[in-house]
Amino acid sequence: MQQIANPITEQVREVVEAVVEALRVPKPDELSPSAASSSFEAESLRAEIIRAGRKLWERQYVDGNGGNISCRVGTKYVLCTPTMMSKRDLEPADICLSDMEGNIVAGDRLSTSELLLHLEIYRANPRARAVVHCHPPYATAFSLTGTAPPVGLISEYEIFIGPAALARYETPGTHAFAETVLPFVQDHNTILLANHGVVCWSDTVTHAEWLTEILESYCKTYLIAKQIGKPLTHIPEEKIQEILALKRRLGFPDARMEPLPKPDEAAPVVNPELEKLVRQVVSRLEER
Ligand SMILES: [Zn+2]
Repeated sequence: MQQIANPITEQVREVVEAVVEALRVPKPDELSPSAASSSFEAESLRAEIIRAGRKLWERQYVDGNGGNISCRVGTKYVLCTPTMMSKRDLEPADICLSDMEGNIVAGDRLSTSELLLHLEIYRANPRARAVVHCHPPYATAFSLTGTAPPVGLISEYEIFIGPAALARYETPGTHAFAETVLPFVQDHNTILLANHGVVCWSDTVTHAEWLTEILESYCKTYLIAKQIGKPLTHIPEEKIQEILALKRRLGFPDARMEPLPKPDEAAPVVNPELEKLVRQVVSRLEER
């Protein structure tokens, strides 16, 4: 027998949905570029980019105007650092808003030419919500040798990064340069750029900056250990398998395991808070 919806519940649901919709903060995709650029979310992301820039400079991972940071705002926009600025000196007004084609749609400064690299990563992998590119000396030294650091030596590096990729050399700032990372961007969150530096992606700017720290610290420690003059001991293979199982649960990529399923951005969003509100209002009405 077909279930007849309770008319009171339906009426309450309509009223609650109308109130929630009226109070809802619009998503960045629904806003004009200037409104998206000045939204609360964008302001918060700008502050995060500035904090990450200071950390990169203080750790000496960026030299001169080198390095760049970006993050996605909704699905249509990207906040990015400008060209020709030290990552030590960024102010909120310096961070521009770009569309997914690299056109600056809000902000007075020119974007970094390496924004093309960031956009290729975002288009290829929806898990990437933030990208950090910099020139940390020990990791960059590996890129000069045409090799990535070996794996199986430090557990934290295995968990957060694992095998780093090495992208071939191309002239920075060009489309050809941006495309060098494409073969690696699904299975690696950390890519060495030959004769140049590194690029890391993650779900947030803070986490992408952490990856640069973990990579650089690992490369430095490895090179110091090699100077001790004793053979290095490796983490046993069965313990590496435990780490890979953990990475799968955490949603971290690793070239040693099956690719992660693509996130379904079109999946309907269940709103448990709204359902709870409806139930509370209906039970109040029934008590009267
Ligand atoms: Zn660079």
